[in-house]
Amino acid sequence: MPVFSLDPVQTAWCAELRTLAAQRLRPLAEKGESGRVNRPLVEELGRLGLLDRLFTAGALELCLLRESLAHGCTEAETALALQGLGTSPLVQAGTEAQRGRWLPDVAAGRAVAAFALSEPDAGSDAAALALKAVPDDRGWRLSGEKRWISNAPEADFYTVFARTTGGAGARGVTAFLVPADRPGLAGSALEMLSPHPIGALTFDDVPVTADDVLGEPDRGFRVAMNTLNRFRPSVGAFAVGMAQAALDATLTHTSSRRAFGGPLADLQSVSHRVAEMATRTEAARLLVYTAASAYDAGAADVPKRSAMAKLLATETAQYVVDSAVQLHGARALQRGHLLEHLYREVRAPRIYEGATEVQRTIIAKELYAEERHPEETPA
Ligand SMILES: Cc1cc2nc3c(=O)[nH]c(=O)nc-3n(C[C@H](O)[C@H](O)[C@H](O)COP(=O)(O)OP(=O)(O)OC[C@H]3O[C@@H](n4cnc5c(N)ncnc54)[C@H](O)[C@@H]3O)c2cc1C
Repeated sequence: MPVFSLDPVQTAWCAELRTLAAQRLRPLAEKGESGRVNRPLVEELGRLGLLDRLFTAGALELCLLRESLAHGCTEAETALALQGLGTSPLVQAGTEAQRGRWLPDVAAGRAVAAFALSEPDAGSDAAALALKAVPDDRGWRLSGEKRWISNAPEADFYTVFARTTGGAGARGVTAFLVPADRPGLAGSALEMLSPHPIGALTFDDVPVTADDVLGEPDRGFRVAMNTLNRFRPSVGAFAVGMAQAALDATLTHTSSRRAFGGPLADLQSVSHRVAEMATRTEAARLLVYTAASAYDAGAADVPKRSAMAKLLATETAQYVVDSAVQLHGARALQRGHLLEHLYREVRAPRIYEGATEVQRTIIAKELYAEERHPEETPA
């Protein structure tokens, strides 16, 4: 059996992306304001053709893109991923007119997108969302609140999931494309541990019509879930990119830092920790690639594989970054150090797009379904 590996074209592309991230995107990220949308960075991602690629990339390609950018510039990775998340409902379910209006601007980095699903009382349990869409003579009026929305309140448009049928759970939700300048839409920024642009939105009778619906009324929850399913393995890829950056820094540091008459690497507890970091990172990477390849192949066990990949990779990255901090000592905690930055960045992915516990629930549900119906289980 051949050893699993990327082909030479994929390997070369990843190397090229890592160089771009470190040399062209990192300086732009450093000029940005923490917690704000960095428009010059988004425009550069557009100029490099990477946003355009988001629309056509398969799941594996998306993972390679996210992992490679994260290695050298987490801000660029996040800016790219958020354009993908906010635009995916439009790509999936938008009309010609909606796509024609927004996709060229998103691809060029001129328009910033956001995906607005979460609310103060509906996070993991997204089907409990309560933002109301009340019918009127021209369409609907949206009223309520969204919270923890990346790119809010600075985005140019939002894909908003609203309740069109009360008491129907996931079956009563409609996806709307809401331009930021609609009357009644307002927002405020939220300051997070990581330098992540994020905010809250308030909807005060915001008018929307049938032309703003993405897909069909009452079928919007599927649009949200399809988006999250496509992105789930790639959240793992983001985590793997951060873990690899932390591991690389640790190899360099422990080879040169001297203590007790030699480099730190000569201490067995140090080198064994590095070995563990590398082994876990590689295991996470392979699980991410396999889940993404399964998605691209249309395999039946994608939900289980994607959940395993997201779970293992985000938890692994936390372990690896924390270990890297430990092995660097005090310097890792100084404001501005790569590891101080990664330590703040690595925490959120264990919570968003399905918290670790939610991934375990998905995995267990799939395992027991396979147990009950072995005839439907993929070989
Ligand atoms: C940096 C960041 C960016 C985000 N960007 C967006 C965005 O762009 N758009 C958007 O819509 N949302 C976004 N979110 C929100 C994110 O999707 C929610 O935070 C997430 O769904 C969890 O919801 P919650 O925070 O309300 O936690 P809760 O749902 O209250 O859960 C809290 C904790 O309870 C436990 N828990 C919850 N459910 C279960 C379960 N079924 N079984 C076991 N344990 C469970 C978990 O430990 C979980 O972390 C973002 C969040 C962060 C941190």
